[in-house]
Amino acid sequence: MAEYEIYALKYAGPFTSSGALLMWFKEWETVEKRNYYIWCIKGEGEPVVVDAGVAPELARERDLGGYVSPAEVLARIGVKADEVRHVVITHIHWDHAGGVRLFPNATFYVQEKEYRFWLKDPIASRPPFKHVSDETCKAYLASLEGTDRLALLKGDQQILPGIECLLAPGHTVGLQAVAVNTARGRAILGSDCAHTFRNYREDWPSALIVDLVEWMKTYDKLRSRASSIDLLFPGHDYTLATQYPEVAKDITRLV
Ligand SMILES: [Zn+2]
Repeated sequence: MAEYEIYALKYAGPFTSSGALLMWFKEWETVEKRNYYIWCIKGEGEPVVVDAGVAPELARERDLGGYVSPAEVLARIGVKADEVRHVVITHIHWDHAGGVRLFPNATFYVQEKEYRFWLKDPIASRPPFKHVSDETCKAYLASLEGTDRLALLKGDQQILPGIECLLAPGHTVGLQAVAVNTARGRAILGSDCAHTFRNYREDWPSALIVDLVEWMKTYDKLRSRASSIDLLFPGHDYTLATQYPEVAKDITRLV
């Protein structure tokens, strides 16, 4: 059976914010750190990149501290962004999808539900949604519609042996997690289903939830599919960059 290693690549941060961002509707008085990441799944065959991060222009526009282009970070583990053929977009928030054009030869795997919301639903143009998405990124994805560079997934779907996308709504309408066979069992990159490990351990979401009931069901699903709770990885936890073996600057091997 195909087995992979998973790497977390920090491309921006650290940032600080009220703990209430990371623990929904509580801990207003605390200050917590977080980082921005993409992930790389490596096995026998070609690498699979999870999320595209942010392109340099967008990083300037958003004044993103500690930013290094995701393409540059990937190069540190021998992955050339312009040769990558598989990129999973977990959700179409700017910090996860804003770097799509850094991968000119990739097929992007996106949940159809997520794509339709951001590209076709007028609600997505209202201020709170506009604030967390990026027009250039959306236009780029729209230009790929109907080509083999945009794979719109309908629910859970294996994309390569041992790598399965799992529909995991709650943070957005069609977020997807990525389940990966590893030497330690089934690991899941949950992206922003949770910002931190605490969200999973304490059964408490982070902020930016479009549907809390769906989030609870998603959590149960991801928890039951991962071989252990330690193999269910959040999207912005500061410790992804500090508590795992560092293989290159700002790159850790999670499993
Ligand atoms: Zn995020």
